[in-house]
Amino acid sequence: MHSHNPNLNALIETQKEIKLLGSIASVLGWDQETYMPEEALLWRSEQLAWLSGQMHRRETAPEIKDLLDKLEDYSPADDREKALLKVARREFRRAEVFPEDYVIEKARHHSLAQNGWIQAREKEDFEAFRPFLEKNMEFARRDAEYLGYEEHPYDALLDLYEPDMKASQIKELFDPLGEYLAGLVKRIGEKPPVRDDFLSRSCPVDKQEELGKEVLKAIGYDFGKGRLDATAHPFTSELGPADIRVTTRYDEFDFCSNLFSVIHEGGHALYEMGIDSTLSETLLGTGTSLGIHESQSRFWENLLGRSRAFCEGFLPLYQNYFPQAFGDIDGESFYRGINRVKPSFIRVEADEVTYSLHVILRFNLELALLEGSLAVKDLPEAWNEESRKLLGILPESVSQGVLQDVHWSHGLIGYFSTYALGNLYGAQFMARMKKDIPQLDDLLRQRNCEPPLKWLREKIHRHGSVYSSAELCRKICGEDLDYRYFIDYLEKKYLEIYGV
Ligand code: ZN
Repeated sequence: MHSHNPNLNALIETQKEIKLLGSIASVLGWDQETYMPEEALLWRSEQLAWLSGQMHRRETAPEIKDLLDKLEDYSPADDREKALLKVARREFRRAEVFPEDYVIEKARHHSLAQNGWIQAREKEDFEAFRPFLEKNMEFARRDAEYLGYEEHPYDALLDLYEPDMKASQIKELFDPLGEYLAGLVKRIGEKPPVRDDFLSRSCPVDKQEELGKEVLKAIGYDFGKGRLDATAHPFTSELGPADIRVTTRYDEFDFCSNLFSVIHEGGHALYEMGIDSTLSETLLGTGTSLGIHESQSRFWENLLGRSRAFCEGFLPLYQNYFPQAFGDIDGESFYRGINRVKPSFIRVEADEVTYSLHVILRFNLELALLEGSLAVKDLPEAWNEESRKLLGILPESVSQGVLQDVHWSHGLIGYFSTYALGNLYGAQFMARMKKDIPQLDDLLRQRNCEPPLKWLREKIHRHGSVYSSAELCRKICGEDLDYRYFIDYLEKKYLEIYGV
């Protein structure tokens, strides 16, 4: 990206260095979760802590403040310049409020806590993780104080992931959504269950890996700019503008776990891969918010990947890999099977109806933890209580409950709500896409994912962070985020499957 204003160009230069350091930290973080030997942990956490200090130093450099001051009265030439200045000011402020020692101490702790979570989860021992989480909550509270907020400490943290949104707005969306979803779960529960036994038939892991790669290629993932590995918790990591890696997990007797992890993470990767390369050295060269990011991953996973047309198109491929498991299953049965609604313990494996309830559960708990009305030591019990209330089930172990997600070990508090926002944005985008590509289902039946990818690239991906979530939504749909699109989508789909 280039500007006619020399100060703006100088500002763009400073961003490249920050991006370089950030991507080096991503390489180390990716390695830690994939291939790093266990005993390398302490040195790795020192490396990451040192890097975060270096990054902080550059993010808060007097030179940046000076340039931002000089650009105070500058009128941006276009949307990109306007966004660049807005994001640069926001990021400078976010970095400036923290003392360097604090940033380093926090990074070191997060790296250790991540390992603490893995160990505690393996041993089914919440007490082993408790001190790590207590310290992370302490950091989260201090973060909110440093960053500042008007209404709720959650707002300061949420803003890091979903800029310009507040806890009160989330509550306004989640309260009616939660009530609707709980009602739908109940209505579906009164109907006879759909058949899904074939999904737990044996599918050898080496074949699952091959299939995952083929599906990724089919949706447009470029293996020249990425790779696929296995981790405890699937994720996507941007190690550079042309290095977007995804991970998945395998279970021989759970076909969907790998397949939908791969499609989900592939959706995140397609977003990053589709960003206009002229933005890649600037702070605009990444997804605009986590809510929009999640709208992309869940778009591919659910709105496309779990649609009837996609099932009809891709089932022959699944059958090629696993003739014993799916040879006797037709497209319609497969479609119904993978869309079975049943309250379950693990968020990332939840169906589309119960998924957002898992998110609402974490949102409620995080609010209480931040307010201080809930102590970390009481968290497993509070988790179970929320689970009973929202999903109607009680986890049998902590790995099925409070220890299932990686986020809290990384100190990512205020993050979960973006997952449900992704469902809402996604459904609204889909309503628009169907108007623009009326033949979408026919294309999916032919396993042709290019037109929907092109649409997403044109409307969303290429812009990176040039437009905020709210601006994108208005540009694409001509209106603000409206949760009723998601409800309409679920109503139609599950009326057909369950007759509710
Ligand atoms: Zn995701």
